Amino acid sequence: MNPLPRQPTTPERQDTMRTAALIVAAGRGTRLGADTPKQYLDLLGKPLLRRTIEAFVSHAGIDHVQTVIGAGQENLYRAATLGLDLPPPVIGGDTRQESVALGLAALAGTGTDRVLIHDGARALVSAELVSRVCRALDDHPAVLPALPVVDSLRRVDNDQVSGVQDRTGLVRAQTPQGFHLDAILAAHRRATGQEMTDDAAIAVAAGLPVTTVPGDEDNFKITVQEDLARAEAVLALRAGGMMETRTGSGFDVHRLVTGRPLMLCGLAIPHSHGLAGHSDADVALHALTDAILGAIAAGDIGDHFPPTDERWRGVGSDIFLRYAAGLVRLRSGRITSIDLTIICEAPKVKPHREAMRTRVADILEIDLDRVSIKATTTERLGFTGRAEGIAAQAVATVALPAEPATLTSR
Ligand code: MG
Repeated sequence: MNPLPRQPTTPERQDTMRTAALIVAAGRGTRLGADTPKQYLDLLGKPLLRRTIEAFVSHAGIDHVQTVIGAGQENLYRAATLGLDLPPPVIGGDTRQESVALGLAALAGTGTDRVLIHDGARALVSAELVSRVCRALDDHPAVLPALPVVDSLRRVDNDQVSGVQDRTGLVRAQTPQGFHLDAILAAHRRATGQEMTDDAAIAVAAGLPVTTVPGDEDNFKITVQEDLARAEAVLALRAGGMMETRTGSGFDVHRLVTGRPLMLCGLAIPHSHGLAGHSDADVALHALTDAILGAIAAGDIGDHFPPTDERWRGVGSDIFLRYAAGLVRLRSGRITSIDLTIICEAPKVKPHREAMRTRVADILEIDLDRVSIKATTTERLGFTGRAEGIAAQAVATVALPAEPATLTSR
């Protein structure tokens, strides 16, 4: 099963040659600040590694895709590659070099002639770059995509500039690095025990001529939080800068009791009763948080802040709302409007309405004119009518970068 459209085979391609992609994703690095290894983090609704794999699976010049993953990452990998037709992953070693060597060994018996070795964290690799490397392998045993060094270089010692580095003849190395399989297998065997920067360095050390092709500035390694935002911006641009609109709804109820302060929309409202709950029980902010989570299909408030977790006992619910807004920003999205209705017989909401709008706009970091807050009664009917509790319902509208058409099908 291969759900991705394949590009038509280009006529200049040497069809007798079998080309594999070896995607190395064995890193355990969690530098992006989450518990999940960075190659499994979400990039606009898909794990980063899945995007990397799809770039090769959907490329007509690639016949076989082999991944190398870290020990213990099998479940993450299975979830990330659901529905893709791939051979079982190779479990990597302690270093990237070892992981590549294990992956190459797995390719040895598959009839592969050429291999493109690629970093799993370079999720934005373009079809053009893959084609460029494949074409160059028709005439060269080793190919390195490279970018010029544009900034001038300085040598620094203890924060003091100690010299100038001539940038003539220097390039920035990227992946996928392409090789004739036999040649790179032999080079890797020779390099066993010596640590080298990358596969091109291993090839050079083995005396293999390595030619360069132009790299791609968008093909950067996604390693820190800012890279994720940049990657999302690149994907949005590829989609033509289009944004799509998502809508979510939220609803919540809390019981009115004596002896608790009443929190509504992040403000303490003077009243004879307050709302019961694990947190500050701000029913309005809970409905709003759920509406925003709903708009980005990110579950509900209980998934992110379980009421069984002691950390959230008595906390201000603005934390939950701020978190949901942060998730939207992480996806390069923005909240375009929210509309909240508070349903209660008492207290009167109207005198507090403008202060509530201001408070919510502050928490969400959006303009006041995007925040609507209304109130209604239920004509003394039902639990709200008997003043046993307060209900709130909310709608949130979110703009998210549109997906490039070729990457939306699963
Ligand atoms: Mg609640």
